[in-house]
Formats: sequence, structure tokens, C-alpha cells
Amino acid sequence: MLPDLYVCTSCDERFYFKFREAYYYMGAAPLGKQIADADLLWVNVRPAWCKDCDCVCVVEDIASLRVFEDAYGAARTGRPVEYPAYTEYMKAPDALRELGDQLRWRMGRRHAARALCCGGSRYQWMDVAQPLLKHAQCDFGVIDSRIHIGSYCGPGSGVHAPANIRLYDPEGELIGQLTWRKQDGRMWDIEPMRYPPPAADD
Ligand SMILES: [Zn+2]
Ligand SMILES: [Zn+2]
Repeated sequence: MLPDLYVCTSCDERFYFKFREAYYYMGAAPLGKQIADADLLWVNVRPAWCKDCDCVCVVEDIASLRVFEDAYGAARTGRPVEYPAYTEYMKAPDALRELGDQLRWRMGRRHAARALCCGGSRYQWMDVAQPLLKHAQCDFGVIDSRIHIGSYCGPGSGVHAPANIRLYDPEGELIGQLTWRKQDGRMWDIEPMRYPPPAADD
């Protein structure tokens, strides 16, 4: 689970996630103005610090193919798993489909894990014992995570406000964002979105 935010214990600077959840688009058709909810696949993420964007962000959490195979095998015998999908409360056929989709995605995936802010790979994990984070003008800060149960409002549901959930291709390339839910949640309106152009090198 992602914390709500990180706080520097020295200068008290706070670091928030710009976004926390994402989906892969697994559909065969080229991306149009709408996509089916059934063509979305949950992106597993871990919290990290992106050195290119200087921000707390989420990075794809991609375990080895073996882990995905084992999870699928567990689902076939009715055992729940926590990764790549939390299936404890799913019905058996739903769990099997979800883990089958995850396994198919993993088998095709080539690119290394990306920071989903910019698509880069210059990041360091934040969910480790002592995350080292050198932020501006603060040399000795220790970064603490904060979790406020129930405080996270999340993006809009896509019904009364646009959800604005980021959408990636199976290789982690940003392609759009989900905005409005349509047809009782079976379809999503989307708008195109791309990674920012890479900054000039320092
Ligand atoms: Zn600090
Ligand atoms: Zn970044």
C-alpha cells in the first residue's frame, strides 16, 4: 500500500504523489476516444523518488515471469495470491481471468520498469528501510512516510468528476488518461496524454 505522503524529518518538506494508480491498455484496436473497461489491466506499482522529475512517484513493480506463473498456478487450484493481483475476495473465475491477463502481459513485456511520471529509469525506491533522498538545500533529511487511514480521497470516480487515471501501453509508455465512465462503467472516455519531452541533460 502506498503511503499518503512523505515528510522530511529535518526541514519538514512534504512530498505528495501526483497520481497513485494506473492501467495498461490491453486492447487490440488502436486507441480511439473510448475504450472498454475489460481492456484495462491494473498496473502494480511501488513508491519511488524520480531523480529526473524531482518528485515522489510510482514505478512499475514487475516481478519475474516465474512469480506470475506461480500466481496463475495458485489461482487454478483456488488459492488466493496478493501479487500480481489481490485475489482474496475475488470469485474464482474472476481471479483466474485477472491472473491470466497479468501473466499474458508479463510474457510480452520487454522494457524494464519505468517511473510512470516520465517513463525514465533514474529512480530509487521509497519503500525500503531508510530511503535516501537528497532534496533541494537539505542534506540530512530522513524521510518518513505518513499514512492517514481514510484520508485519501482519490481521483474522481469518473461519474461526477473526471477520474483522470493514467493509461499506459503494455511497455509502460504513457498514452492517455481515463476521464469519464460511460455505459454503467463498461466504457471509459479517454483523452490522449504523453510523457513530457526529456529535459536537457545536466
Ligand atoms: Zn529536508
Ligand atoms: Zn520522472
